[in-house]
Amino acid sequence: MNSIVLVTGGSRGIGAATSKYLAKQSYAVCVNYISNEIEANKIVTEIERDGGVAIAVQADVSKENEVIKLFDTIDKSLGKITHLVNNAGILLPKMKVSEMSAERINKIFSTNVTSYFLCCKEAINRMKNGGAIVNVSSVASRLGSPSEYVDYAASKGAIDTLTIGLSIEVANKNIRVNCVRPGFIYTEIHADGGEPNRVERIRNLIPLQRGGNPVDVAASIAFLLSSEASFITGTFIDVAGGK
Ligand code: NAP
Repeated sequence: MNSIVLVTGGSRGIGAATSKYLAKQSYAVCVNYISNEIEANKIVTEIERDGGVAIAVQADVSKENEVIKLFDTIDKSLGKITHLVNNAGILLPKMKVSEMSAERINKIFSTNVTSYFLCCKEAINRMKNGGAIVNVSSVASRLGSPSEYVDYAASKGAIDTLTIGLSIEVANKNIRVNCVRPGFIYTEIHADGGEPNRVERIRNLIPLQRGGNPVDVAASIAFLLSSEASFITGTFIDVAGGK
């Protein structure tokens, strides 16, 4: 059976590294993005240049109609999905809970949580011969990100719980659901949080004394998706240098 994977938010950062890593392992990859068509197409070109198969598909995964269209496109272009990496996520500028608006909280939750549920739903309904899902959460779910991004941290807490519940719900369909929790990884998300050099500032507080690279996370995602992890479900790998 050919392996077909959707990586949500595959145009940049951890998603881009994961798309390339999985393509090297012979997955056909759908690189999803919301607005950055140029970067998404660059990832596809790079994969094709190395002999792999990939398509770039624009969709806002927080919107149900766009998720349905995204999966229909994958069905037609690559075939029925066998693997899913729920990765698309956002961070908004630092703020205390006492200042947060409902609009902000809902934006974080619709992008970081609703999208994961919607993509799981569409994927599970296609995985008739089993499959594997990896949710990208964050060590923020344990740390809580006080005075900075409690909304973001709480959204990742919801992803941890989704992983536990769904893994048991679909285990009898031979669908495995696992989670990686990155720590401080060098990507552009920190600029969206208002601090582009966040990882550099924090690196000495990380037990392994460095920030993570997107490929560090990609390797753990690939392991959890692979047949080498065939008896692993409902579990977590923290990719955080000991933080
Ligand atoms: P990033 O570099 O900011 O990339 C975010 C990706 O998500 C982009 O591809 C973006 O597409 C896409 N995206 C955003 N909203 C979307 C939506 N509504 N629909 C579809 N795609 C959307 O982020 P990253 O640092 O790689 O983070 C990836 C995941 O890892 C996130 O879930 C994040 O919370 C988690 N994480 C990151 C870190 C870290 O230190 N970097 C730590 C812990 C957890 P465009 O390119 O089109 O904008």
